[in-house]
Amino acid sequence: MDSIVNNLNTIYKRIEYACKKVNRTPDEVRLLLATKTVSIEKIRFAIEQGVPLIGENKVQELKQKTNAIVDLQPDIHFIGHLQSNKIKEVIKWASCIQSIDRLSLAEKLHKRLTLENKTIDVYIQVNTSFEESKFGAKPKDTIALVQEVAKFNNINIKGLMTIGLLSSESKEIRKCFRLLKQLQKDINSLQIPNVRIDELSMGMSNDLEIAIEEGATIVRVGTAIFGERIYPDSYYWNESKN
Ligand SMILES: *Cc1c(COP(=O)(O)O)cnc(C)c1O
Repeated sequence: MDSIVNNLNTIYKRIEYACKKVNRTPDEVRLLLATKTVSIEKIRFAIEQGVPLIGENKVQELKQKTNAIVDLQPDIHFIGHLQSNKIKEVIKWASCIQSIDRLSLAEKLHKRLTLENKTIDVYIQVNTSFEESKFGAKPKDTIALVQEVAKFNNINIKGLMTIGLLSSESKEIRKCFRLLKQLQKDINSLQIPNVRIDELSMGMSNDLEIAIEEGATIVRVGTAIFGERIYPDSYYWNESKN
């Protein structure tokens, strides 16, 4: 648990330093705890250190963990690939779905929300790295997707989310985040009713500085706080494993 405290301090320093570099203030950037595979005990501890925002990738884990942490009242986002048959469960537990990446999913979400007389916040996930293996709407299709999803009055589009290229070339990673920022500008300039993109969820343990420099408002950090996971990320990010 000591290591979580130290790691959080390190992350805050990294956020602060990156903000300074581009004349932003740290309160413009929220830290989301990416808690896939992390034990309830550790998650509780991290929330108690003052981090009120967590993200889960799998519906099963979301359900189990949410029950065990509701008393701490964290804000819970769903950040993993979402299959439409899991929508019903997700909207029970998450306040925001960051991974809306196709119209068919939004349609089913809208139907379910209508049935339950509910609304939800979503981010549109964009595949800014153009990697086949990654989920997310194609950048060129994103504006059209936003325009369609905006028609569903119980779905509030609040942001865009992306996973940067897994690369050691910071220039290549930066391109991904720049593209997301550009999409935000393009979408907001269209003044689509019911749409106002204020949030850019981008940057993880290895690239959060670049993301912050390019305008991230939420960085999603797992490994740098909780340590290495036993599963590779492909387990969570690959269609065939879901
Ligand atoms: C796991 C995960 C993260 C965090 O990644 P780390 O490299 O462990 O910081 C962020 N976003 C998503 C969507 C994830 O699945």
